[in-house]
Amino acid sequence: MAKTFKIAVLPGDGIGPEVMAEATRVLDVIGKNYNVIFQGKFANVGGAGIDNEGKALPQTTIDICKDSDAILFGSVGGPKWETLPPDEQPERGALLPLRKIFGLYANLRPAIIFPSLTGASSLKEEVISGGFNVLVVRELTGGIYFSQPKGIEGEGRDRIGIDTMKYTVPEIERIAHVAFHAAMKRDKKVCSIDKANVLSTSVLWREVVSTISKKYPEVELSHMYVDNAAMQLVKWPKQFDVILAENMFGDILSDEAAMLTGSLGMLPSASLAEGTFGMYEPSGGSAPDIAGQGIANPIAQILSAGMMLKFSFGMTDASEEIDTAVATVLDQGYRTRDIYQNKPGEKLVNTKEIGDAIIAALS
Ligand code: NAD
Repeated sequence: MAKTFKIAVLPGDGIGPEVMAEATRVLDVIGKNYNVIFQGKFANVGGAGIDNEGKALPQTTIDICKDSDAILFGSVGGPKWETLPPDEQPERGALLPLRKIFGLYANLRPAIIFPSLTGASSLKEEVISGGFNVLVVRELTGGIYFSQPKGIEGEGRDRIGIDTMKYTVPEIERIAHVAFHAAMKRDKKVCSIDKANVLSTSVLWREVVSTISKKYPEVELSHMYVDNAAMQLVKWPKQFDVILAENMFGDILSDEAAMLTGSLGMLPSASLAEGTFGMYEPSGGSAPDIAGQGIANPIAQILSAGMMLKFSFGMTDASEEIDTAVATVLDQGYRTRDIYQNKPGEKLVNTKEIGDAIIAALS
């Protein structure tokens, strides 16, 4: 009997539904090819949740996610909801609660520049020729964004803003394991980021990561201060394989790494819980400037579905087939507007046409 995986499909706002349509078409084909049933249940999230059910993360959506093996998320937000109180806005009101409810503690963001797209990067050709592939593993539920005490105390000019950075040994251990596991399937290098010359959390971070590394003797571990890492990423990104970082450092470095590729519409991400549950989404936002025109790049959403196959469903071959199909289509010259450079051999296509090409490359 065919294996069944339940997926909570949350397209969200802006280009979310447009790019999600292509990802679900790809999943249909993969399901047929691999004799697997993907049972997708659609639910409202973000602005769509506010408009249709009064909340960015309606209870019906939470229930559908709880009854699923993974969440495939589009993107949320847009000008229509920007005047709402911050906690009710699509991003804060949906993404943070989802991370909390499902214990999504590990954020994996690959920054990949395909060899055929090196011209889209802001870096010099000689720095990125042949492309690069860096994976940022970011701790997502601890550190300075969540530790207590936090807040603003006092009155007037005597007010004090307080944030606390705390990490426990188990929190560091579990994210370190994620990074080393990922490295084992890649080039077997982990660069752990900290600020151990100043921060106590970083001293503990460095010690615990070094201890965990002994369980992965094949993986080469290095440590780098976060300020140096920010410079090294722009200087020579190819030196990195897996970057392991706590929440805030990872937040900043993963955006920097993504920007180096020059094409936000290309980058997927995974947020993993303990076990196999995870949420998968493009790194970009809802792109209201191009929403509704059918021209958005669906590749990030399709690659996010590929990460879901790998990390939540154990379908590594199918996931790699999607990665290969995307690379093939780019080599064939297909480009949505965001990655079109008007070079010989390039074909400007819309969202559905590039989806068609990827599906053709699969089958
Ligand atoms: P954005 O990522 O939506 O857009 C930045 C630029 O990249 C725009 O020019 C956009 O057209 C382009 N772009 C992004 N994805 C693309 C794609 N797939 N294909 C082609 N072009 C693409 O960021 P922004 O403009 O800062 O934010 C817009 C809205 O998205 C805001 O409401 C923001 O809060 C929200 N947002 C949501 C998420 C999320 O859902 N996780 C993440 C970031 C931003």
